[in-house]
Amino acid sequence: MKTLSQELFDTLLSWYRENKRDLPWRRVVSPYRTWISEIMLQQTRVSAAIPYFERWTKRFPSALSLSSASEEDVLKAWEGLGYYSRARNLHAAAKIIASEFGGELPCDKEALLRLPGIGEYTVGAILSIAFGKREPAVDGNVLRVISRLTEDPTDILNVSFRKKIADDIRPFMKEGETSDFTQALFELGALVCLPEEACRCASCPVRAFCGANEHGTQSLFPVKTAKKEKKKAEMTVFLLLLNGSVALTRRPDSGLLAKMYQFPNVSGFLSASEVSARFGGEARELPAHTHVFTHVIWEMKAFAVSLSSPPNDPTLFFASPAELEEKYALPSAFSFYKKFCK
Ligand code: SF4
Repeated sequence: MKTLSQELFDTLLSWYRENKRDLPWRRVVSPYRTWISEIMLQQTRVSAAIPYFERWTKRFPSALSLSSASEEDVLKAWEGLGYYSRARNLHAAAKIIASEFGGELPCDKEALLRLPGIGEYTVGAILSIAFGKREPAVDGNVLRVISRLTEDPTDILNVSFRKKIADDIRPFMKEGETSDFTQALFELGALVCLPEEACRCASCPVRAFCGANEHGTQSLFPVKTAKKEKKKAEMTVFLLLLNGSVALTRRPDSGLLAKMYQFPNVSGFLSASEVSARFGGEARELPAHTHVFTHVIWEMKAFAVSLSSPPNDPTLFFASPAELEEKYALPSAFSFYKKFCK
């Protein structure tokens, strides 16, 4: 295995300072802004996160303003980003920051780790980028970069590997340079040392220090055991239309998309005649839609039904097109069908 060196990281930092992207969370750095950007970027591409980050920080410029917002407003600001537990956790953590820390994020690792939705990686990012602490942030990009540089054969799904990598790189973080150190590794993983065969070794600033480049083994690292295939779930969605409004319901309090609004639906595929019989109106079939989550794929079939009276179901309520736009946040899987609510 190749070893890491200070020269490698100094070379990487020089490259980063000359080549870093101009991103909104880099223009003004604060613990709050770093926290929001890191949570948004967990499951979202940079280009998709930028407009959300800009809108969010205008609407909720501080943890205090976020703490006093309603859950509805928070979810509406997050609408379309997916993985809504991230927004709920931000909201819950902001309330704790307001009540226990005077509205400012604590610069203490243990205190940060107790906040909802904040794990080792996010703590490392906040502490190193915004507080200047020598605390590595190890995400999938960093694991890939370091395991290629060193040709480390450890399986990246091994739970202790992140800690090992953090311990390996911490000694190379210099006081006063922790922010650039963390972001330089992110930047290399995002722009140059890309997954699979896409890595751009010819233009890599640290190729002279890289074991995988020296031996042509880039495609062998990081070592990862095969992923299980995702489960598929069939679903029939109902757009129940009444006097220009559409029926919504709320998802259960726990599980996937907990407590989010949705169009009523059942598992399995129903036929048009089964839907018509169920609601007493003609069922018009809509395009099918597939939504991929981390562990499951929803295969969605949908029907629009124009009702003449409200169904006898207390879990349903009706929302106007304006309310659907401004008030009720729908997860992306269901948002696809908003355009048919006419
Ligand atoms: S030389 Fe290639 S494999 Fe090595 S760090 Fe650079 S991009 Fe990654």
